[in-house]
Amino acid sequence: MTVEDPVCRNTIPLENAHASQEYGGWAYFFCSSRCHADFKLNPERYADARIPAAFSAPGDASHPSRKA
Ligand SMILES: [Zn+2]
Repeated sequence: MTVEDPVCRNTIPLENAHASQEYGGWAYFFCSSRCHADFKLNPERYADARIPAAFSAPGDASHPSRKA
């Protein structure tokens, strides 16, 4: 199985993923700690590439089910 690194857009084998991050109910995988760090700095920018259009509704400043 391969996954796409949302930051650099490289396709990497899942077992080679350097890091993973869950965001908005999706799991993201990264080829390097740098990509992971970039994602954490601006997750909405990168997550938008993977979330189906139906979920990317305008006015996403309020996340209704955001729980720490
Ligand atoms: Zn990467």
